[in-house]
Amino acid sequence: MRIVDIRHDVVPISRYSDPALPSGGLDTSIAAVITDVVRDGRPVVGYGFASIGRFAQRGLIADRFAPRLLHATGAALATEDGANLDPFSAWRTMMAGEKPGGHGERCVAVGTLDMAIWDAAAKIAGLPLYRFLAQCTGRTPAADAPVPVYAGGGYYYPADDTECLAEELRRLRDMGYDRVKIKIAGKSFDQDLARIDAAVELLPDAGHLAVDAMNGYDAAACRAAAGRLAPYGLWWFEDICDPLDFETQAAVAGVYGGAIAAGEALFSVAEARLLDRHGGLRRDRDILLFDPVHCYGLPGYVAIVRDLEAHGWPRSAFWPHGGHLFCLHVVRALGLGGAEVNPLCFQPFGGLPDGTAPENGRVAPPEAPGIGFETKAALYRLFASLAGG
Ligand code: MG
Repeated sequence: MRIVDIRHDVVPISRYSDPALPSGGLDTSIAAVITDVVRDGRPVVGYGFASIGRFAQRGLIADRFAPRLLHATGAALATEDGANLDPFSAWRTMMAGEKPGGHGERCVAVGTLDMAIWDAAAKIAGLPLYRFLAQCTGRTPAADAPVPVYAGGGYYYPADDTECLAEELRRLRDMGYDRVKIKIAGKSFDQDLARIDAAVELLPDAGHLAVDAMNGYDAAACRAAAGRLAPYGLWWFEDICDPLDFETQAAVAGVYGGAIAAGEALFSVAEARLLDRHGGLRRDRDILLFDPVHCYGLPGYVAIVRDLEAHGWPRSAFWPHGGHLFCLHVVRALGLGGAEVNPLCFQPFGGLPDGTAPENGRVAPPEAPGIGFETKAALYRLFASLAGG
């Protein structure tokens, strides 16, 4: 068992369905992991990308993590019987010599390749990722258990913000989404409340709207915002202050009765424990957002889920960041609360397979072997060009 080639590139990625709108130079890494396993006369290729929101990782992939995979053979990559890639062994190979802590965005580089390895391994097994991952982690997914989803989006528009936001909400509603998350903390409270009012008007009620402050509030603004938001009865209040300002978060959790969502910008078991011990989160209502790609990929993410579960957190509290197919599989396989979907932003990465829409707020992952990026034509074209396919 060998990985014979790893090809990767950097591509721009937009917060808007119209990619011409400026998106802060955001980009992501894409990767193709080409194995020596042949199916239907062609090598099995796994595809991955760096999820959304933390920029591309070309240097770390090229300098450290891809070479370690390419130099590895046998047990360093494969299952005991040699029949498949073992993503956990491949992950240990990537992490050889790396020291604990100081995650920077090293975790994102590892997660990019890890996603491609899971895609390849599930394809070799002939299973959709959710079934393969469930098998690898000792779980049996329910035969018919579509995943609860919501639409993530609602970024600030450079002009006519509230009107454009309302139009986005209408499009999402027409696509079948009745739960939505929008951004706040980038404008004045009054402007943000106007955004919230516009969104609530297009949803069944405020309990179907989550707001994401994108870690933009300082301690005083965070407390003030919580006071203004409390009467709405929102679904959740996300990334309410700096990701490591547990003192402010705990203070707000002490007075804000609604759900708080946190963890998107934390990347390890040690950080997750700090959040749990010092962030004031409540197991009966709050939401855990760790991104399965950004947390060093699935081996890191699964470790976080297991650790917090052992400390009393229900799996239903996990709604991972990243509105794409990979996370949909992860939620189904691990029995988590639900999945973000980015139907309009971050194309062609975000959203569901072409022609798929949620029914009653739920959707099932594709049954194609692997992650099923092949079910999204524009995304598959991007990956296939990388692999020369
Ligand atoms: Mg967020």
